[in-house]
Amino acid sequence: MNQPEPETQYIENTPRRAVIVVGAGAGGLMAAGRAAESGARVILLERGPQTARKLRIAGKGRANVTNTADKNEFIAAFGENGKFLYGAFSRFFKDDLRDLLRRLGVETKVERGGRVFPVSDDADDVANALERWVRSLGVEILLNSRVKSIEANETVKGVRTDRGLISSDAVILATGGITYPKTGSTGDGYRMAAELGHHIVEPRPSLTAMVCQELWVRELQGLSLKNVEARLYLTDESGKKKAIGKQFGEMLFTHFGVSGPIILTLSRKAVDVFGKGKIELEINLKPALSEEQLHARLIRDFTSTKHFKNYLPDLLPRAMIPIFIKLTGIPEHLPVNNITAEKRKRMVELLRNLRLTVTGLRPPDEAIVTAGGVDIKEINPKTMESRLVKGLYFVGEVIDIDATTGGYNLQAAFSTGWVAGESAAECGMKGKFRVASDE
Ligand SMILES: Cc1cc2nc3c(=O)[nH]c(=O)nc-3n(C[C@H](O)[C@H](O)[C@H](O)COP(=O)(O)OP(=O)(O)OC[C@H]3O[C@@H](n4cnc5c(N)ncnc54)[C@H](O)[C@@H]3O)c2cc1C
Repeated sequence: MNQPEPETQYIENTPRRAVIVVGAGAGGLMAAGRAAESGARVILLERGPQTARKLRIAGKGRANVTNTADKNEFIAAFGENGKFLYGAFSRFFKDDLRDLLRRLGVETKVERGGRVFPVSDDADDVANALERWVRSLGVEILLNSRVKSIEANETVKGVRTDRGLISSDAVILATGGITYPKTGSTGDGYRMAAELGHHIVEPRPSLTAMVCQELWVRELQGLSLKNVEARLYLTDESGKKKAIGKQFGEMLFTHFGVSGPIILTLSRKAVDVFGKGKIELEINLKPALSEEQLHARLIRDFTSTKHFKNYLPDLLPRAMIPIFIKLTGIPEHLPVNNITAEKRKRMVELLRNLRLTVTGLRPPDEAIVTAGGVDIKEINPKTMESRLVKGLYFVGEVIDIDATTGGYNLQAAFSTGWVAGESAAECGMKGKFRVASDE
């Protein structure tokens, strides 16, 4: 049975545009702040007890807020849908973000790979500064306020919350994706957008660790390898093996398989081919040496009488040695000058193509971002406004955009937030909030 509509009261009748922002994550805070700066009266509704819970844990609690890459590299980091962001990046990009944070008292620094972090190495500093900024502009932040649906026909009318209806002719949806649901992002925005007729590209975890079949990986749990190359392959049902992606950098062994920056990046490609055949990773532990150079080095080294086990620390991290001995089948006490050419070949093969069978991807709870979301064809990239519903705007991860690691995803949330906030505030209509009585 339908509940009777709660009585509606006016809480404010403002000559300024009234903007409702749903979700106080990175994108929602930016949208609320920019809308207020642009002259709107803003209410920011957050379902959780605190703002920006995902931003506060981003980058292992340090928040890799953006990257120094140029615009084209940035766009490329988002893959096919990256072009959608040209407009937003033209209006608010990495230097604008760093300037704004500086203005709010948060200095930033650049690390390896152009990754930008707060100098304090504390993500809370970024989140708190944005929250202070937003409050100082008069935005009303309502915590523990979950939006259940958006009221609209062809034009937005407002949002329905646990406590009743709040009316406005501009609503910014910044509810995030489906990953790390304990931070508040459980996919509500996809459902709400779909109810209004938007096409949702199937949301799925991206930037997630890979589960491997080989049991020996567990023995390497905690081992991080730097400067290695990982290649991802798909072998389809006809037996055809296809290269899917290649990354150079750092990876990590875990109790279930592999993780770390290059694995997370490759997982974006694995998501798309999962279920289409056998997926394998090949790790090149010595990417700086060609096959011939590696053979030449071993031939040179194998003139001594050192035991195989005592020689290996020259070649590999200590934790890998017992596994490597097992995989080569070479007795650990064999003097290296007794290693046959065939065994040496096996060693080179393992050093260059250490093979792992990928049997799964870790679940959404553990993924960094969501691939999929509101179809970009249905959003105006210049304003972030829905092409289907007037007055409805989209920000951040709820949109079908996602990038590799490196600070790109947060910059996208900030940039789309900036544009949506400004557009929603400037759209011309003069609004007023009304809120349904919760008594
Ligand atoms: C562990 C981890 C580390 C990461 N590290 C980085 C990094 O270092 N650099 C980087 O660029 N990216 C990083 N990311 C990705 C980045 O954090 C996200 O892409 C970004 O936070 C998305 O911002 P958003 O505002 O779109 O969504 P979110 O930050 O997820 O915010 C959405 C907000 O909406 C609220 N909400 C949801 N539904 C409702 C509702 N119905 N009513 C009211 N409120 C609602 C949620 O509670 C939440 O506060 C990381 C992600 C994770 C999980």
